[in-house]
Formats: sequence, structure tokens, C-alpha cells
Amino acid sequence: MRPSFIPRLVNGPLFDPLVYVRILNERKALLFDCGHFLSITPRELLLLDGIYISHAHMDHFMGFDYVLRSILHRQTPLHVYGPEGITGKVLSKLHAYSWNLARDYSLVVHIREIREGSAMSTSASLCTGFKDYKTEEYKIDPCCVISSDPRYRVKSVVLDHNIPCLAFTLEENAHVNIRGEMLHRLGYVSGPWLGRLKECVLTGDIQSNIEVNTLKGKFSKKVSDLVDEIVIVSPGQKVAYIADIRYSYENIDRLRTIASGVDILFIEAFYLDEMRNEANKKGHLTAYQAGSIARMLGAKKVLPMHVSPRYHARLKEIMEEVQNAYSLVADSG
Ligand SMILES: [Zn+2]
Ligand SMILES: [Zn+2]
Repeated sequence: MRPSFIPRLVNGPLFDPLVYVRILNERKALLFDCGHFLSITPRELLLLDGIYISHAHMDHFMGFDYVLRSILHRQTPLHVYGPEGITGKVLSKLHAYSWNLARDYSLVVHIREIREGSAMSTSASLCTGFKDYKTEEYKIDPCCVISSDPRYRVKSVVLDHNIPCLAFTLEENAHVNIRGEMLHRLGYVSGPWLGRLKECVLTGDIQSNIEVNTLKGKFSKKVSDLVDEIVIVSPGQKVAYIADIRYSYENIDRLRTIASGVDILFIEAFYLDEMRNEANKKGHLTAYQAGSIARMLGAKKVLPMHVSPRYHARLKEIMEEVQNAYSLVADSG
């Protein structure tokens, strides 16, 4: 299956955890957490549609200003998602600067504050120095969806890190592939119509007609007929991001509701298990606990991140501990 998402652990397993996800075939990308980073290019930042902040500890949030500066001239809005209190924190950052030279800019920042059972939406425009904003409450989706697009959706649950902390999953609605050999055999010619066909399939609009390019010219054809001829629909790709949580039944139960069967799991492995007590006190995971959660979720691949500076010289042990707990699962079925 050709992937639709290309996730990148920007700082590697050490240093601040950030995952940049490029959405293929769209000029779009998402960012999970936004601490300190150097290796996201200005061009990549311009593609950012949404920033998903797990919590506002500095190592997860201090890069927001840098993103903002990179996209100031943009016409398309920026969406920021975060836990309880994020609205005030983002507005504080937006209000910290003088914007008298930016009155003609059209950037709008949409903030979505995700809380237990409810959410709050705030939109602030750069042309007013972000001063003229409105806020409204809305009900959270029962399936935990916090944002959606015809091709994918992002889900979130509120977890405990001594403060509320969000975990996220990015799920493709379905994966639509074109059978290349059939395309050629039937005399069809590739072009933008294939993108329209995929969009119709993903949105369930299979009764409409679209114009098909063929060797003999353009013809109108029903989407459902094209599906039978040249389309393969398979389950979509799923990526999860879990940072800074306590190892507890409540947290694991909530994670199961959104992250079971995930293809790629990014998860913090802050300490070795020898510091289990400290991890519990600070609301962090040990490497062993991270591997156990990966196993319990049935993750196909686990990528540890956010290793504590005290273990930077012992990364190999962290990785082994994650793998030991993860494969324990696989061996026992
Ligand atoms: Zn934290
Ligand atoms: Zn952290």
C-alpha cells in the first residue's frame, strides 16, 4: 500500500518531541507538538494546516512563535488544537507582539480547546492585531473526532499528566488505489480525473458521473462503474502520537478508544524502568511502559521519543527496554 501520510520525528528520539506529517497529494501538513526545532524548512512550515499541542509545557509549545512568523503572509488559516487552557495561552502569544505593520495581512488563527466532553472555538485575525476575536462552546464528537477532511480525521482523548494532556491519532478514512494495469488495458489515460474519482469514493459519492480521459477522447462515466473497473479500497493508514502521560488504567483505557491497531505509534519513553516511581510522580512513561502500551494497542510499529536528558547516553538501553516489552506481547500472542 502506498502511504498517504509521511510522518517524521523531527528531532529524533532525543530532545523535544515533534512529529511533522506530510499529507501526500495535497499541499498540506500537520504538526504534533511544537517545542524547539531547527530542521523544518520554511517551505514545510507554509504547508501547515493544523498544529496539535498535547499540553503547554515549554518543550511542547515554545516553537509556536517560530511557526507563526513563517506563515504571517499566508491567506489560508492556521488551526491550533490543544487541551484545557490553550485558548488563553495562544492568545497571550499572539498579543505579545506589535502588529501595526500587519493591518493588510489576512491570516486567521482558529483555536480549538479540547476538554472533557466539550470544546471551545476561538478565531482571531491578524488584521486586528488578533484583538477582535470571538469564542464559542461546542459539543465534542462522541467518537473523539476533533478535525476532519474528506481524506482523513484526527481524534483525541484527554489524558492525565498531572495536568490534562491530549493524545492524538491521524486516521485515513480509507485508502483508495488505482489498478494501473487495468487503467492501461481499458485505454484510460492518467490525469486529474483520477483525483476526482478518489475524492468521490472517499466521500461516498459513487452515483455521480465524472469525465474520464481515454485514448479515444473524454467520456462521462458513473463513479460506481469506475470503482468496479479500476479501484481498490483498503483500510486507511493510522498514526498515533502519545506524549507525557502517567501509566494508569484510565489513561490506557482512553487510548484504546482511539489508538487500537495503529500502524505507527510515536510514544514517549522518558526514563528506564528503574525510575518507575519517579515516572509515576511526574506523570511520564518509562521505556518498558511505552513498549507495553504499544503491545496492548496492537501497534504495528513503535517509535520511542522524548527520552530524558539523563538517559541520552543510554539510548540503546531505552530502545531495548521498549522492544522487550513490545515483543513480549507479540510472543504471547
Ligand atoms: Zn510535560
Ligand atoms: Zn515533555
